[in-house]
Amino acid sequence: MADPITLPSDQDASGRSLGAEEIALVEKVIRSGTLTSTKGPVVKELEKRFADMIGVRHSYACSSGSAAIHVAVAAIDPEPGDEIVTTSITDMGALTPILYQGAIPVFADVDPATLNVTAASVEAVLSERTRAIIVTHLFGNPAETHAIKALADRRGIPVIEDAAQAFLAAEAGKRVGAIGTIGCFSLQQGKHITCGEGGVVTTDDDALARRMRLFINKAWPYGESGPDHEFLALNYRMTELQGAVALAQLDKLADNVAIRQCNADRLTAALAGINGIATPVIAANAEHVYWKYCLRVDANAVPGGPPALAAALKDENILSAPRYIQKPAFECAVFRDQRTFGNSRFPFTLARSEAVDYARERFPGTYAGLRDVLVLPWNERYTNAHVDHLATAIRAHASALNRTLPEVAE
Ligand SMILES: *Cc1c(COP(=O)(O)O)cnc(C)c1O
Repeated sequence: MADPITLPSDQDASGRSLGAEEIALVEKVIRSGTLTSTKGPVVKELEKRFADMIGVRHSYACSSGSAAIHVAVAAIDPEPGDEIVTTSITDMGALTPILYQGAIPVFADVDPATLNVTAASVEAVLSERTRAIIVTHLFGNPAETHAIKALADRRGIPVIEDAAQAFLAAEAGKRVGAIGTIGCFSLQQGKHITCGEGGVVTTDDDALARRMRLFINKAWPYGESGPDHEFLALNYRMTELQGAVALAQLDKLADNVAIRQCNADRLTAALAGINGIATPVIAANAEHVYWKYCLRVDANAVPGGPPALAAALKDENILSAPRYIQKPAFECAVFRDQRTFGNSRFPFTLARSEAVDYARERFPGTYAGLRDVLVLPWNERYTNAHVDHLATAIRAHASALNRTLPEVAE
């Protein structure tokens, strides 16, 4: 009979680092009576400390990771119908803001080993109308951002890093969120640090920084003389209450990341040499921060592939996720049926046909990557015992499934 070990969950206190520090700061904010960040000091301090941590001059907090992406796209200010290259495997909140700004998401294929876009896959979909490239560091594993930035620089277009899953990850010694032109982060419940919902944008570019700050604030330049609502924008502000939690969480981020990495290394070592199970592939110059720990399961060696292994792990109280997202983003109704504003299909009506060609054969890495990936739940409250429970269960069930193949009889 299996041990009744329950893994800590990032959906409740068991898997989160929330505690007395967050409570004290929230209490202070409530007692101050100032809950809006336009008047209070807490979000401002969060922004300053976040910028210092990432190594950029400007950082602004906002209401979600989706808002952060919207702020980044709006700052770049594409013309309707301009194209923004992004990834086929990401959170929908990283894609819909592109459509809200009247631009066309153009999907680059991914490397099936990492599920990240590559310089080659991005280059293959660039066009005359490409206005920006979004690079997503999926699961906390940095994409080849320097190479993509070099490609973008040659064309004079900005790179937006979606670092929602990649706090403190680095490539070639530089933190993600500081390699590209703009960085975007999420503080949603399940991310490395959280305030329930929240986002942060980062940049070193003064002009973009001003537009980002304005877009969060209905384009009203607080503190400047002769203010006006300068362009179309929303209220995407973070409250002081969220800011208080986020600020306390920021102190814990480095430890959270270190624990996730240490446990990941332990699991990787424990899973070495299992037929049909591949552990994360990380570039030599990259630092992975393990938002999730992903396996790749080869169905030729482990019959039934990720779904079969996930079903077996479920019996051990381990809730893993085959496929991560059920289908590539472009198979969702919003893209497939172009459901946007009324019946207009805007902005898809402005798209080149090639930009919205989602034919399966154009995305071999995407389909192979989703077929093989098994996402293990992961957070900073794991102990060695939790990691060893995972390792033992994976080894036992992968081998049990292996043995159903005649050619691997021992
Ligand atoms: C979580 C996430 C987002 C969206 O963030 P929200 O805070 O949920 O709006 C965007 N991109 C990626 C890669 C994410 O993981």
